[in-house]
Amino acid sequence: MSVSRVIEELGHLIDGEIVRGGELFPVENPGTGEIGARCPAASAEQLDAACRAAAAAQPAWAQVGEAERREVIRAMGAALTENVDVLNELAEIEKGVPFGPGGLPVATGEVFLAHVFAEEIANTPLPVDLVEDSDARRVEVVRVPVGVVAAISAWNGPIFLAAQKAFHALLVGNTVVAKPSPFTPLTSLYMGTVWKDIVPPGVVNIVAGGNDIGAALVSHPAVRLVSFTGGVAGGRAVAVAAAGALKNVVLELGGNDAAIVLPDVDVSAVARRVYDAAFTIAGQACLAIKRLFVHESIFDAMVAELAAHASREVAATAREGGTFPPITTRAQFDRVRLLVEDALAQGAVAVTGGRPVGGRGNFYPPTVLTDVMPSMSVVAEEQFGPVLPVIRYVELDDAVAAANGTEYGLCGSVWSADVEKASAVAARLVAGTVYVNSHGDVSPSAPFGGCRASGVGRECGRPGIDAYAELQTRVVHKT
Ligand code: NAD
Repeated sequence: MSVSRVIEELGHLIDGEIVRGGELFPVENPGTGEIGARCPAASAEQLDAACRAAAAAQPAWAQVGEAERREVIRAMGAALTENVDVLNELAEIEKGVPFGPGGLPVATGEVFLAHVFAEEIANTPLPVDLVEDSDARRVEVVRVPVGVVAAISAWNGPIFLAAQKAFHALLVGNTVVAKPSPFTPLTSLYMGTVWKDIVPPGVVNIVAGGNDIGAALVSHPAVRLVSFTGGVAGGRAVAVAAAGALKNVVLELGGNDAAIVLPDVDVSAVARRVYDAAFTIAGQACLAIKRLFVHESIFDAMVAELAAHASREVAATAREGGTFPPITTRAQFDRVRLLVEDALAQGAVAVTGGRPVGGRGNFYPPTVLTDVMPSMSVVAEEQFGPVLPVIRYVELDDAVAAANGTEYGLCGSVWSADVEKASAVAARLVAGTVYVNSHGDVSPSAPFGGCRASGVGRECGRPGIDAYAELQTRVVHKT
């Protein structure tokens, strides 16, 4: 089937049916600047129907038993892989490029990760904590469902984010209403088509729409847990709305990750890896390196290596020989442009890049900035784009203090030939995840989330299971 036909047939997944009709909203192709597709927006009635369906389906889903739930999760992961070609075609429209990290087709990496997560989450035992097992009584803590989970996701990882939220929620016996970003709804709605005949009706529902639909979903009385991945402002709004009804939240928000490079590194080798960790998908990753602290003794060499990598990139569509993707939304493109303009006006130096490529689409070249100040917005705030401020340090303590000196706390890394020393420095970073000699690896079995404005709660690992569950203490008197 042609991709245009697939798009025509996209609709919301509500109670096991693909539901179309209602208003269409434009999805811009950031590679061309043109409208790539028109996507249905859920009406208030459709959203209500999705939430009601999820609530109605939840008790039976919790009762089917763990083994069946695990099989469904595995099948959902496998089905994404079987449909990766169509997902790639849709992702090309909403992301603007047919390639992603490592030159792979743009959806391939996300689908691969989602499939890996499905397998591992499906194999994860639901923990039971034995508190007491005496002659008199047995006390244990088990994980029971929360109910209906609202899974709201950002535009930078629409397939993976929706999938891993759904897998966690389903394992525990919850049902789901997922809402993708209005900038990247096509792949998520297609996931509904793929999953329609795998999950029982109502167990997973997917509705597209703007922030208003997200807000309505958070406020819907059927929803008991909101799992939100997005920006700090959206996360705050969700937290406030959820607090009124005492709903549980998991908030995976923005980051301003620092990497600290000690003077003993192999500059060339580390520069390559730092470059990738900063500029993969044009820096549009929550856990991209967004500030780089480099010891003064290797500063010039490191900047030169980073600049060499950046200057080899071509920010253009693949058909035009491009190697570097566009910024997915026009608003984010404008934000990156203004942040860099502001820094340059205050004395920063763009060693590479520094202004948009020009022409069609949201292409902005990899931009390495030096001579930056901590007070500049490009350093203090999350850029979420292809910009890396490189900051010279003399005293390690000053670098650590500066690294910790923003409102964020998602990830951080330390790079050194001395792993022990680097580990001790990494332990001083205020971040949900710290890395030594890497930055950005994630695993379904390691908790992931942020401190401070970077979020509340964790996904993945045992805390990630707990986030999608209520802890129920069971006290059984034996006589
Ligand atoms: P965003 O906050 O604008 O939107 C995210 C989602 O929330 C969208 O689906 C949007 O429609 C919805 N939304 C917005 N306001 C809402 C509200 N008041 N109530 C309910 N839903 C609402 O974020 P974005 O621009 O799509 O994504 C970029 C941000 O996401 C960056 O800050 C990035 O760091 C962050 N992010 C974080 C992680 C993580 O795991 N920590 C992962 C990916 C992206």
